[in-house]
Amino acid sequence: MVTSSELATRSGGVWQNQAATVRATPNRIEHPTTVAELVAAVRNASLSGANIRPVGAGLSMTGLAAGNDVLIDLAKLRGLVSIDRRAGTATFLGGTSVDEAATILEAERLSIIGAPAIGSATLAGAMSTGAHGYAPREASFSANVAGISLVTPDGRLLKIDDRHNTQLWPAARLSLGALGVIAEVTVRIRDYVELRTNRKRRDIERLVRDLGEARAKLDFYRVDWRPHTDTAMLTVGWLEATAPAALPAASSSRRERGRRRDRIRARVARALPFLAPAIDAVANRLEPLGDEGVRAARDVHDGGEPLPFVEYQFPIAKAGNVVTALREFVHGNRAMAAADVRLTLVAADEVWLSPAYGRDVIAVMVRVPTADAAALVDLEDLFIWLGGLPSWGGFHTLTGAEAAYVMPRFSDFSSIRHDLDPYERMQNETLHRLLG
Ligand SMILES: Cc1cc2nc3c(=O)[nH]c(=O)nc-3n(C[C@H](O)[C@H](O)[C@H](O)COP(=O)(O)OP(=O)(O)OC[C@H]3O[C@@H](n4cnc5c(N)ncnc54)[C@H](O)[C@@H]3O)c2cc1C
Repeated sequence: MVTSSELATRSGGVWQNQAATVRATPNRIEHPTTVAELVAAVRNASLSGANIRPVGAGLSMTGLAAGNDVLIDLAKLRGLVSIDRRAGTATFLGGTSVDEAATILEAERLSIIGAPAIGSATLAGAMSTGAHGYAPREASFSANVAGISLVTPDGRLLKIDDRHNTQLWPAARLSLGALGVIAEVTVRIRDYVELRTNRKRRDIERLVRDLGEARAKLDFYRVDWRPHTDTAMLTVGWLEATAPAALPAASSSRRERGRRRDRIRARVARALPFLAPAIDAVANRLEPLGDEGVRAARDVHDGGEPLPFVEYQFPIAKAGNVVTALREFVHGNRAMAAADVRLTLVAADEVWLSPAYGRDVIAVMVRVPTADAAALVDLEDLFIWLGGLPSWGGFHTLTGAEAAYVMPRFSDFSSIRHDLDPYERMQNETLHRLLG
């Protein structure tokens, strides 16, 4: 994996996220390898009056290190700290990626509860943005984490969970990097169980009708949909103690082929948007979207960089309205000619900044080629109007006033932020837009 530090070094001190949507020229980049080094880095930055900008794998689209202060790159703060089988938890350094943690645990026949779907994200980054997985009855990663240690903006190391500094816990579970730097993440674990998956084509309207049943019965749920067509690819799965029959992983040549075809589809659809429905119908037949090879090609795309995306989360009862509105939005819209959509289900939680706070949701992710990223702003307006809340890892332009209007615990989060960071050492453009 290309780490954020490598990206920064390669471009001569200019740091950018992996989708190249955020750039920064920090005065200094710190690469702590231990918690003690992290505490010292934060304390020194704070004493010198600099702003502090933590980064993980740099997968998020907004809200990163867009400023000129001290960038703290967690890429080298990685690895297992301990496993506590009795408590059902495992603690990792914050820069450990989701995949690394899963591999370490798998060797012990254990797995993470509420694991995020994106394996290259760091545990701390996934927690800071409320990343979620594909298990329809599981809440987000933030809701499932058992505890963290946090270096506060003034350089104190705090343990935060439901027994230590509990007043901070509902805010610290999803903090957008506003409360300090996460040094360690304690995940909840369970015995490892194989996932058996299956793919089918389904009419999108039928899928929407069957959401309740899917949620009740499945352990894995993902819909990939080209929104100019009626047909989507549904991937479902069940955890089974004795069934190691998961789908084979895509070979790199299949992935490359999928990537190439997908690029051609995007180019033709953008050049001839009125043909998008026909192009997508052909693409559906040639290459079902749920195909592992195509999915991998699409997730890491445009020369290996992730595609810009917006993901909003809606109460499940609104799914039909959202799908209808999305179809109307993409119809004849040149910037949406090559869009694709992913639908997942996420269970309700009590995390203050979570888009699933108090409600089971459907997460609707829309990806477009980089050249069409500007169109995501209009799409976001539509999603806000439809009553959605953003997944914080994607593009978002929500303002503090809007967030306060629709998120019941937003002001509680703001006051915890004020307590922990009165001098706004963690400030960045996105936090300024959201929290002032
Ligand atoms: C191709 C792609 C697919 C994706 N799929 C999914 C998906 O299926 N489900 C989903 O939920 N999300 C998904 N995402 C979004 C993704 O989950 C988030 O972007 C990711 O979790 C962020 O992890 P990161 O390590 O890249 O963090 P970064 O992007 O580096 O940082 C994210 C935020 O966390 C803060 N942060 C990072 N590290 C720390 C730390 N140690 N302490 C405090 N704050 C910190 C940063 O300041 C920033 O605000 C996807 C993103 C991409 C690009």
